[in-house]
Amino acid sequence: MRLSWLPMPQIELPDGHRVALPEGEPIGSILPPEAIVARFDGELVDLSFVPSSDGTVEPVVPDQPDGLHVLRHSMAHVMAQAVCDLIPDAKYAIGPPIEDGFYYDFELPQPLTPDDLPRIEARMAEIRAADQPFVREELSRQQALERFADQSFKREIIEGLDEAEGAGADTVVVYRSGEWSDLCRGPHVPSTSRLGAFKLLKLAGAYWRGDESRPMLQRVYGTAWPTEHDLKAYLHRVEEAERRDHRKLGRQLDLFSFPEELGPGLVVWHQRGGIFRKQLEDYVRDLHLERGYDLVVTPHLARRVLWDTSGHTAKFIENMYPVMDDGQGNQYFVKPMNCPFHVLIYKSQVRSYRDLPMRLSELGTVYRYERAGVIHGLLRVRGMTQDDSHIICREDQLIDEILSVFDLTLDIHRTFGFEDPVVTLSTKPGQAIGEESMWARAIEALTKALNNSGLEYTVAEEEGAFYGPKVDFHFRDAIGRLWQLTTVQVDFALPERFDMEFVGEDNERHRPVMIHRAILGSLERFSGVLIEHYAGAFPLWLAPEQVRLVPVADRHLEHARELAEKLRAAGLRPFVDASGETVGKKVRAAQLMRVPYTLVIGDREAETGNVTVRDRSGTEVKDVSLDVFVRGLVDEAGSRSLEQSRFEG
Ligand SMILES: [Zn+2]
Ligand SMILES: [Zn+2]
Repeated sequence: MRLSWLPMPQIELPDGHRVALPEGEPIGSILPPEAIVARFDGELVDLSFVPSSDGTVEPVVPDQPDGLHVLRHSMAHVMAQAVCDLIPDAKYAIGPPIEDGFYYDFELPQPLTPDDLPRIEARMAEIRAADQPFVREELSRQQALERFADQSFKREIIEGLDEAEGAGADTVVVYRSGEWSDLCRGPHVPSTSRLGAFKLLKLAGAYWRGDESRPMLQRVYGTAWPTEHDLKAYLHRVEEAERRDHRKLGRQLDLFSFPEELGPGLVVWHQRGGIFRKQLEDYVRDLHLERGYDLVVTPHLARRVLWDTSGHTAKFIENMYPVMDDGQGNQYFVKPMNCPFHVLIYKSQVRSYRDLPMRLSELGTVYRYERAGVIHGLLRVRGMTQDDSHIICREDQLIDEILSVFDLTLDIHRTFGFEDPVVTLSTKPGQAIGEESMWARAIEALTKALNNSGLEYTVAEEEGAFYGPKVDFHFRDAIGRLWQLTTVQVDFALPERFDMEFVGEDNERHRPVMIHRAILGSLERFSGVLIEHYAGAFPLWLAPEQVRLVPVADRHLEHARELAEKLRAAGLRPFVDASGETVGKKVRAAQLMRVPYTLVIGDREAETGNVTVRDRSGTEVKDVSLDVFVRGLVDEAGSRSLEQSRFEG
């Protein structure tokens, strides 16, 4: 019989059921077998955790974010255990889970080489097969110092009372698996057989505590997943991402470079990149004109007073290049945004309600002083051109204007094959200008527009711009990665700060509202995304070189040049490979440059006037009439098709 003075904790399950947990029973005993850890009253705990009070519990399974985190964390222990088994003098430091995997830092008598990784993996697999439980122990500081007598880094953690690593002032939490222990707050999977699939990836150097004056340790990186299938899919994604890396393809396709002399994050577009940019820019500009936008052009510098008025010097200064002084008391800033310039264009005349909405559009080049550590190829640069527009309108026009921006956004992205956006609404950030009521009106307008649009969206608290809330559109690329591309912001603050006005129907002065929006984002970043999305194989309309003509022998060069002339006259971009290489090498070179079509020109082609067409898939069709070929390509480029044309011989 149960003694009445022993409490029996009442545990509420996710379905609302309440279970009385017998005294001393672990929480895992009432959870399904798939669970690897539990969430008790919001805190992650081991399945062996014994509650002493009432509470709610949820099972956590390996493919949930928390589950993956625990899986990877537990795997880091197993890797360190394996390294210590193989290298008894190893000193182990710390090893957290990270995105997609984990690492552990070691001080070793002999540094590891990549050839050692399979040996460590094999030992890890043995530990996993041995089904060792992770046993939680609470030691006194003295006991812990004895347990880790020969582990200097662990002793330092214990002496430093590092709570995050389990080393409290009174008790030190240790997890033991087999004979091996680590300082840790937990939780872990119940035993090593629950660990799933893993692979060790690479070695790196890292200072203990990130401090250059402390020992340099060796860091071993690994990845871990619930199943072999998940692991394979991940390794495939990594390989695909490497194959598509826009920095590598940018060199290979001769599109752009980042000369050292310019400084970090500043790109030069080469000849081929120049054509690609022109295609992108012409498309965007023409579409904006069709949609009732006006084009404007503004300079790269402005006096300090402009940025003081706009609030940039107060709220955005750390993202701006330092001030320039002309020696005559004038201070200038290179522009981080185009907005204030467009405001001045609006203010160049008295505006009436009939002038609104006014949609000012510019491919505006801006400069932002991004930290050197975050600069990454074209994806994060310091000099960039935004497809930037500012719509200045009456408040009663706001929702329709936002809706037409959404519509244009979907239209533009569909052209590149981006569908089904993930949409977020971001609210007021910590650094902000403007009154609370303005923010409320701006958020209300964006919310109404979102609800009218039928788009699904989520709310990201405090992620807005300093002058207003925003809606962001994220799109998935060809390998499933999500990119934030489009931003739409509603702003009541700048019209106020710049005292923008229009004369209403009532002959009174009124304040307009402003929408800031960039649909591609920046052309640099968007280009980087496109290069990776297409793996460099651009649709015909974007391809810098559309047709490569490959003469078989010198005697075919003349005919190849005539054909190229005809293609050029039809508005296409051909290139004749007049090099002395073999046909095979020339065709291979065209493939490496991802040229959409290659025409091999030999005796037969010179006689008939027809062409032999090879597309990107390597399909070769002989005896295609030149007219048919030209018409096919002109249609394909003109319609911005994402598919290559098919020809019959
Ligand atoms: Zn741990
Ligand atoms: Zn703006």
